[in-house]
Amino acid sequence: MVRTIIGANWGDEGKGKITDVLAEKSDIVIRFQGGANAGHTIINSYGKFALHLMPSGAFHQNIMNIIGPGVALNIEALLKEYDDIVARGVPAPQIMISDRVQVMMPYHVDFDKFEEERLGKNSFGSTKSGIAPFYGDKYMKIGMQICQIYDKELFRARLENVAAQKNVLLESLYGKPDLDVDAIFDKMTALAERVRPWVGDTSAYLRKALKEGKTVLLEGQLGTLRDPDHGIYPFTTSSSPLAGYGPVGAGISPRDMTDIIAVTKAYSSCVGAGPFTTELFGDEAEELRRRGGDAGEYGATTHRPRRVGWFDAVATRYGALTQGATEVALTNLDVLGYLDEIKVCTAYEYEGKLISDFPVTPVLEKCKPVYTTVPGWHSDIRGITKYSDLPEKCREYVDFIEKQIEVPIRIVSNGPRREETMVKE
Ligand code: GDP
Repeated sequence: MVRTIIGANWGDEGKGKITDVLAEKSDIVIRFQGGANAGHTIINSYGKFALHLMPSGAFHQNIMNIIGPGVALNIEALLKEYDDIVARGVPAPQIMISDRVQVMMPYHVDFDKFEEERLGKNSFGSTKSGIAPFYGDKYMKIGMQICQIYDKELFRARLENVAAQKNVLLESLYGKPDLDVDAIFDKMTALAERVRPWVGDTSAYLRKALKEGKTVLLEGQLGTLRDPDHGIYPFTTSSSPLAGYGPVGAGISPRDMTDIIAVTKAYSSCVGAGPFTTELFGDEAEELRRRGGDAGEYGATTHRPRRVGWFDAVATRYGALTQGATEVALTNLDVLGYLDEIKVCTAYEYEGKLISDFPVTPVLEKCKPVYTTVPGWHSDIRGITKYSDLPEKCREYVDFIEKQIEVPIRIVSNGPRREETMVKE
């Protein structure tokens, strides 16, 4: 059984919590794309954790946590996360890293910063963790697989070739000093050595595990609208956060995929730049931001205030269907308990016409939201453990959203804690 948890929207949908809940019932948890640029918030009996690269199975000692070949592996960031969670009393997690994974190099992070500085106000809202330069190099075939770093001669030769290219840009475009090949070589060979006991053929491991009937969880980062092909390009990330990329980035067969769980919030939130049709501003936004999530809507990695808005059913239907979702997990439903009325965006208006299919970015930039207003339930639903015990108006809101997004909602989350999770029958 292979379950995949992915985001239906812009990221930050609450995947971390849902993953933590489902990880408990898994033997293996795999990260298949992205890097340390986004974060999951997990709250459990050990405390509150922001995980960036570490798979969410890290809190369960019987689970194997795998970093798949599709990930941008920042070794320092992974080691720091590992040390942090162990220092806070979590028993050492089991980890395996694909020998094909590519490694984030110090110059990727530098180039990300230099490019954002160069673009100034036209920047794409990068988290400056090196993701775009990393994936750029990967597809230019000048990336560094960890297995190549272990071959010292090969690594040095590849690094010198990279420096020949990068130095031209550093000097001419950014006015910065050349790469220090010796320093990078020493730093990265030492870091790669530290994780060597974890590195191996994860695909072979997974084939065997699946044959034995093990339960696998693929853990996505960000969401559909950040996909470079299907998202709000160029305000996207540089690797695919789609379940369709899961088998590639994890190293399993697409035939093994069983459940695809798309996570979405009961309202919308978005970090970074790009069109966000249902965005709220002023006091209305401030109130929702303050009440959202477990401690307000602020990014897990960047701590930037998240942009917030009403539930966008056009974007979420597209997001869930593009993921191929077999079910939806609706999070943060408790947050809306303060409202008398709730708006849901059920169509966009573009040049005087109504559209219900999510459009390409230049059109989206000009779309206005068309809202349907539904009554609120005006009560605190935290602490309720059975779906049928939710207020009627609250269940009606969930039914309304379910009808709009055309995928069954199976999991409903009414608080940030693991146990604040209900199954909608
Ligand atoms: P992820 O990247 O998709 O894992 O999302 P994040 O963890 O970055 O953001 C989701 C936020 O919502 C975090 O602050 C979570 O603790 C919080 N959260 C998740 N589910 C719920 C919920 O049902 N209710 C509330 N109030 N907060 C939630």
